[in-house]
Amino acid sequence: MTPSADRTDTVTNNSATFLMTNMIPQAPDNNQGPWADLEDYSRDLVNQGKELYIISGSYGSGGTGSNGGASSIASGRVTVPDRTWKVIVVLDSPGNASSVTTSTRVIAVNMPNEQGIRYDDWRSYRVSVDSIESATGYDLLSNVSSSIQSVIEARVDNQ
Ligand code: MN
Ligand code: MN
Repeated sequence: MTPSADRTDTVTNNSATFLMTNMIPQAPDNNQGPWADLEDYSRDLVNQGKELYIISGSYGSGGTGSNGGASSIASGRVTVPDRTWKVIVVLDSPGNASSVTTSTRVIAVNMPNEQGIRYDDWRSYRVSVDSIESATGYDLLSNVSSSIQSVIEARVDNQ
């Protein structure tokens, strides 16, 4: 979920990206296609001076990979998710939840965990944070005041 290349400040932080807690079975066309393109775009934003607060995950079961469809691997011990999602809060400068306003840019995507999407534009998978909350049951960005959440979570990024 968190790319190794984005955690290079210490050996400990880099090693953490190789733990199973940071991994999901992800279709190559998802992981190496629009998912990777969004990671590249995120690095561009950081290089422009933005600070990103990123949350990602998956839900459902049943994806497709190089070997076809599966709902689990490792003798049923690891679920193959149906969807992968990511929420990126774009801060203009280093800050915290209290620096988020109704004009803060939030990029949310929800992608199918399947083959055949490798050349899709990540932008075509943009959704609202509210729709990810509905699908997962999470209350994302919960440290942001509810009046601001209600605005930024309903908006779909179009930049
Ligand atoms: Mn909400
Ligand atoms: Mn929320």
